[in-house]
Amino acid sequence: MTSSTERFPTSAEMSVAGLGCRFCGQPIRHVVVDLGLQPLCQSRVLREHLNEHERCYPLRAYVCDHCWLVQVQEHVGGEEIFSHYAYFSSYSDTLLAHSKVYVDQMIERFGLNQASFVVELASNDGYLLQYFVEQQIPCLGVEPAANVADAAREKGVPSLVKFFGTVTASEMQAAGQQADLLVANNVLAHVPELNDFVAGMKIALKPQGVITVEVSHLVKIIENNLFDTIYQEHYCYYLVSTLQRIFQHHGLTIFDVDELPTQGGSIRIYARHSENSSLPVSENVHRIIANEESNGYHRLQAYARFAEQVAAAKRDLLACLIELKRQGKRIAAYGAPGKGNTLLNYCGIREDFLDYTVDRNPMKQNTFLVGSRIPVHAPEAIAATKPDYVLLLPWNLERELTEQLSYIRQWGGSFILPLPHLRVIN
Ligand SMILES: [Zn+2]
Repeated sequence: MTSSTERFPTSAEMSVAGLGCRFCGQPIRHVVVDLGLQPLCQSRVLREHLNEHERCYPLRAYVCDHCWLVQVQEHVGGEEIFSHYAYFSSYSDTLLAHSKVYVDQMIERFGLNQASFVVELASNDGYLLQYFVEQQIPCLGVEPAANVADAAREKGVPSLVKFFGTVTASEMQAAGQQADLLVANNVLAHVPELNDFVAGMKIALKPQGVITVEVSHLVKIIENNLFDTIYQEHYCYYLVSTLQRIFQHHGLTIFDVDELPTQGGSIRIYARHSENSSLPVSENVHRIIANEESNGYHRLQAYARFAEQVAAAKRDLLACLIELKRQGKRIAAYGAPGKGNTLLNYCGIREDFLDYTVDRNPMKQNTFLVGSRIPVHAPEAIAATKPDYVLLLPWNLERELTEQLSYIRQWGGSFILPLPHLRVIN
């Protein structure tokens, strides 16, 4: 007889009852990671609301063992989240540079010209379409947040303030607005009605048109421990093989994939109508899917190690901050991105560790981070208060930010990067 220690199920394991997969509808049976109770991380707290409660929701990622879609339960509708979005893409120089390169590549690869029509879904403040406007290629942005779409119009980017799905796509089709190039960058993760969104892409695409989608690669999220990209507003996390299944289901075929360094490891997939065989499926697609399978992402084992990795990262960051505070150091943060809120709230970091954070976006300044209630100031606060350490919350922009903030070295300041592995850069 072997002796075994009894283990009780965790609350996260018990929470799967009644959940169904957002794509295939099969029952959900497995938790990938539990990040605790978290508020909506793309909101902010105004000074007049400091004495009020905040709504928090359990933040757990689940995996469907039928289609391997990793997903977070939807607690709040997209309308509530995205109608007043505070994120303006143009505040990131890295993203602007990436977008300009993308536009030049697409124009060359697909021979886009003044007779073409480019549509971007979740076009934000026109950060990307502005480069098509510069080249006089007609375009349209579809963006649900009116305040963000206004900023796009000021750049000369025509913008439709709508949620995208089959209804909006049919209206666009009726208005002769089908796309030669349909761009969906960093939006597929945010789509609660996944099937309706992809079905809409099929409708909004011209017969010979091409779709490109940029999204974080689930393999990189797990390999590089990017748990801070998991939040309530990010409903889905994708393998290429899962995307292929979803697109195929809606009459679209993925014919190429690029691997990108953005967001700690993303993919850009290229899709077309399945009926359009003029664009053959590249070797890249087969190679990446074969790698996903051989690295265990079609079995539960690949997901099982993630929760322990995440807990280890929390212990490392807290141990570092505790030690610095014991030495009497002053620590500030840089940035107020959604991912920063996931990290801070999961780790329980408040003003007991971080005096404040700063952000370039004026809409975030003079507000407070959700959950942690850490004050957000303008970037000038760093030069004024000279902290000993600056924790970089958008740590994926390491090069841009360490350069931009290199002046902290004048007073001996150092940077702390929380992920993928904790690092202190003097
Ligand atoms: Zn599924």
